[in-house]
Amino acid sequence: MSPPRVSVAVPLYNEEHGLPELLRRLRAVLDGLPGGPHEMVFANDGSADRTLELLEEAAREDERVVVVSLSRNFGHQAALTAALDHVSGDVAVLMDGDLQDPPEAIPAFLERYREGYDVVYAVRAKRTEPWWLRFCYFLFYRALARMAQVRLPLDAGDFGLMSRRVVAELRRSPERHRYLRGLRAWAGFRQIGIPVARSERYQGSSKYGFTKLVGLALDGLFAFSTVPLRAAALVGGLAILASAAFAAYALYAKLVLHRSPQGFTALILVITFLSGVNLFFLGVIGEYLGRVYEQVKARPLYVVGRVIRRRPPPPQTPPPSAVA
Ligand code: UDP
Ligand code: MG
Repeated sequence: MSPPRVSVAVPLYNEEHGLPELLRRLRAVLDGLPGGPHEMVFANDGSADRTLELLEEAAREDERVVVVSLSRNFGHQAALTAALDHVSGDVAVLMDGDLQDPPEAIPAFLERYREGYDVVYAVRAKRTEPWWLRFCYFLFYRALARMAQVRLPLDAGDFGLMSRRVVAELRRSPERHRYLRGLRAWAGFRQIGIPVARSERYQGSSKYGFTKLVGLALDGLFAFSTVPLRAAALVGGLAILASAAFAAYALYAKLVLHRSPQGFTALILVITFLSGVNLFFLGVIGEYLGRVYEQVKARPLYVVGRVIRRRPPPPQTPPPSAVA
């Protein structure tokens, strides 16, 4: 097997300060890889700073640089998808552009790829976030893994390598509200996680506020599980049981004990509690409905403003799965 051509896919949103360092480290890693030509595909996600300018400059100097500039900010997962849609290598490495994902891990990914794995993802060995956020991540990944219909790996982010046939499957999936690490697991084939320390952001602060992070978590949950929908039925069933039991008691109290149960406070509590439960699950249904609506509209996931590519992409032979 000749050494695979590697495409690195990176989404960038206002990363002008970290970009030169990212380019330097990525180039150093790619220079050290056998085979080639390799490429770096940067999706500029509507940056408002000099990110695009720096990318243009980089593309002029280095023909391995491909730039996909989106027409506005579409968000991390959409930008990642855009980058992935423009890779042409035998394997694609997804990574963040803030150097939280160390490019130096790529050779280790490739090693496992050569052993026959189609997906090699980084398992976060060491996090540098505050303890409460780490705790949330810990809970979330475990809760999601329990509820999901697909086996989702624990503590794995998007950072990782995928073979061309996995990329082809992701491209075939028109799913909105993408949760790429989940889709990647869904694609199947042989997958393995290797521990990679997650460093601190090279500069600036995370573009993911807490609400966006919760948003991504919910995308993961709603895209890979219908447990929240079933939970409504479960809670409803329990409420009906409780109500039947109470009705039986009320009847017994009336006919045998000759007194009617009292309790205005209990009544108010039950009414407010059950209306709360009702509205909560209405909201849950709404989440799914909203996602169905978004999906039905079938707008493109992103709009490309411009692609800068100095070297024509190599002719695409179909991935091995399609040949066999
Ligand atoms: N990013 C993007 N579009 C956005 C937000 C972020 O392309 O709307 C990029 C960002 O430039 C970075 C990566 O996605 O390369 C991860 O973002 P960030 O570091 O802010 O997220 P975190 O590491 O905190 O999850
Ligand atoms: Mg980051």
